[in-house]
Amino acid sequence: AVEDGIAWHKGVCRFCGTGCGLLVGVRDGRIVATKGDPDAPVNRGLNCVKGYFNAKIMYGKDRLTTPLMRRRNGKFDKTGKFEPVSWDEALDEMAKQLLRVYRAKGPAGVSIIGSGQYTIPEAYTASKFMKAGLRSNNIDPNARLCMASAVVGFYQTFGVDEPANNYSDIELSDLMILWGNNMAEAHPVLWSRVANRRLTEKRTKIVQVTTHRSSSSNLADLVIIMRPNADLAILNFLQREILKRGVVDHDFVNKHCIFSTGVTDIGYGLRNTDKYARPAEKDTLAKQLVVKLDKYEAIGQGRKPGEVVEQKNSGGTAGNHWRITFEDYTKALEPYTLDFVAELAKGDNDESIDTFKQKLMKLADLVCEKERKMLSFWCMGVNQHQRGVWVNEQIYSVHLLLGKHGKPGSGAFSLTGQPSACGSAREVGAFCHRLPSDMLVANPKHRAKTEKIWNIPQGTLNPKVGASLMEILRGVEDGSVDFVWTQVVNILQSAPNNTHWVEAMRRPDAFVVVSDIYPTYSARAADLILPAAAHFEKWGLYGNAERRTQGWHQLVKAPGQARTDVWMMMELAKRIKVADTWKAQPLAGVKDNMLPDVLEAAKAMGIKPEDSLFDVLFSPKDVRAKAVWPDPKYPGELNATGEALGLDYFPEKALFTEYRAFTLGDGHDLADFDTYMDPKCRGLLWPVVNGKETPYRFNVDYDPYAKPDNLFYGKLMKDIPTGNLRGVTDKTPKAAPGTAKIFFRPYAAPVEQPDGKYDLWLCTGRILEHWHTGSMTRRVPELHRAAPSALLYMNPGDAERRGLKRGDTAHVESRYGTCRAVVETQVRNIMPAGSVWLAFFDEKVRTNAVVIDSTDPISLEPDYKKTAVFVTKA
Ligand code: SF4
Repeated sequence: AVEDGIAWHKGVCRFCGTGCGLLVGVRDGRIVATKGDPDAPVNRGLNCVKGYFNAKIMYGKDRLTTPLMRRRNGKFDKTGKFEPVSWDEALDEMAKQLLRVYRAKGPAGVSIIGSGQYTIPEAYTASKFMKAGLRSNNIDPNARLCMASAVVGFYQTFGVDEPANNYSDIELSDLMILWGNNMAEAHPVLWSRVANRRLTEKRTKIVQVTTHRSSSSNLADLVIIMRPNADLAILNFLQREILKRGVVDHDFVNKHCIFSTGVTDIGYGLRNTDKYARPAEKDTLAKQLVVKLDKYEAIGQGRKPGEVVEQKNSGGTAGNHWRITFEDYTKALEPYTLDFVAELAKGDNDESIDTFKQKLMKLADLVCEKERKMLSFWCMGVNQHQRGVWVNEQIYSVHLLLGKHGKPGSGAFSLTGQPSACGSAREVGAFCHRLPSDMLVANPKHRAKTEKIWNIPQGTLNPKVGASLMEILRGVEDGSVDFVWTQVVNILQSAPNNTHWVEAMRRPDAFVVVSDIYPTYSARAADLILPAAAHFEKWGLYGNAERRTQGWHQLVKAPGQARTDVWMMMELAKRIKVADTWKAQPLAGVKDNMLPDVLEAAKAMGIKPEDSLFDVLFSPKDVRAKAVWPDPKYPGELNATGEALGLDYFPEKALFTEYRAFTLGDGHDLADFDTYMDPKCRGLLWPVVNGKETPYRFNVDYDPYAKPDNLFYGKLMKDIPTGNLRGVTDKTPKAAPGTAKIFFRPYAAPVEQPDGKYDLWLCTGRILEHWHTGSMTRRVPELHRAAPSALLYMNPGDAERRGLKRGDTAHVESRYGTCRAVVETQVRNIMPAGSVWLAFFDEKVRTNAVVIDSTDPISLEPDYKKTAVFVTKA
């Protein structure tokens, strides 16, 4: 529609995983406004304060418009200053450096750090370029930092990724439990739906289980302030109560679930146990930890306090678990009594133990009401957790015991923080261990299927799981990874303990490329900065947290020489020959230690050694035929990638069409490109079978894949690989097709806790006005004025004891780094004594320099919520 000279088009919000629909106003080749799309089922015309500024984030004064390279005397020089260069010069140098590293270190030496903000075609291009072209699985998105624990929780419980439910459950549910998340600020439009339900349907109750009061607490009927890490114990208390009160849905459980556990032999995802270990672990090796159980973990595991147990630091490959009986499961939960859990979990000194117990019982009463429809929501509070996978599993256990999952109004619902963490990072498989559509690089059948669809020789794909995001950073530091390309991510502000990685990237042998729309904090560590196109300057699709795939058209041209990430990867692929990467390659850790030469097999397929990776991966005849350009469906429209490459086909459409082939008949079925691009289409919930979306998975009334005797049809339950899925091993019960697992997971102490010197817990997160590292929202004057800097939220008593008051500048120090922030004691986040809170959007504060880089040992996701710090007056 055109009004007042403004043409309105459909679009999708660039920020959180809610996935709000937009109407985007274009006038004279510029986005001049955006507003909430009234026809979008997610947001029904609403946006949050960030969403309304989708236009302004594209037009910051310092938008990158030309490649910048460090040079001296007209040549690349690591110690030189950034100078503008042509794209040819930038890409030639990039190819030269990549090949230098590749010849010296093979596939293990190169890497891409990607993003949950990738569009689907971008993630697919990056994954194919790395996995098929460079034969390296060293590609991992920043989604590793935010929902990797959710992914493993899904895999382990259901054998398949992503939620069963959808947002319309909010209007059907009468109990919503927030596990550690502050939806009011992190998912504001969803929160408006929750608020509407709560205020219009009296029966509805909201419970918040949290470490501090936040904006979401204002609406909650019950706020349970817990000690950090105590969610593990509270969830066991709930499971115990469900059993004790006899409200287990035995019919459902007997038919569709098995019981599982894995208790002691799992360590912590530590970088260096000497430096970061719990005191009792100090003399141990990284692979083998000895842990002296504290009182609560000992009791929770049915052991004696002080008992010393050996733990394996699995490095992410052994989420050990084995099948147990219902009786074993019941017995394992026995220690989690009200008294025990209340003592362990009470998080607010100002609250009496009796009041806390009453609150736990009230929560149990609500959960155990048979007729009550129940939703659980969680996000970073659960996922960024040294036992994040376990907490995910425990939430599912509660829902499965009650038979309240995948049903209208009832389900366990993992939210995401990025617009396409699901659609791009997860579904496309842009992780170091994944292939498209829930397949795994270490599974020979999955590799063979991928090689067939990609039309490349059998044996091309690398069977070794690549380096995860934190391992890539550690690889840059120890010299095993020398080429890094960061795309759509500001990793040096968002990674924990990040002073390390800035220094590592300045190592003489490292070559670091940062592509982005602005010069982010990460750009200072780059050797080459590439100007990227913003979201409405390219065709794209995102997948949100409820499995909704949504597409938009390119609406305007990118400024200057900014190009799409797809274009950059394809141009680089033109500069690398098949002969460079498809000959035998060194491969540490695999039996014969070599990736095979596939050049002969390639020849038999008509691929010549001198062909470029672009020719083979992105421009073969059958790919071109799938998407001609100009496309009669889109007369007169822009196509930045194809035009800049001089192509007669439509790359994004061709890539999506090829990717779709992985999903069909596989439980992930997507519709075709044109369906999502139809101006009337407001996205579809996959699997889309016979043109129909699937509102509930694992429910025979809605899901075409669910069968009465095979409700949970996850492929990884039937076809379990060994030691290759961050969390599934050969110990995983195999005789379980169609079932979900109910786990017992014990309480475990975090790797460090406040002590005499570092006496406060630091938790980090997001605020309403800014998104992630603020690289976009801080360039919007209105948002910047609303929240100009990250504040240190403190308990007033804690502040006073340190000689601080509201408005003073404080020094925050951990074992890993320091930062400074202004103290806030009265509004937004109200902290109990002993805890402080900082947002990470502010480049000046550099919150994550302070955060410990310890990860969940299974998902390899860092814990941003529990660093021991001290605070003094600056
Ligand atoms: Fe919706 Fe999230 Fe965008 Fe706000 S930031 S408009 S809640 S998608």
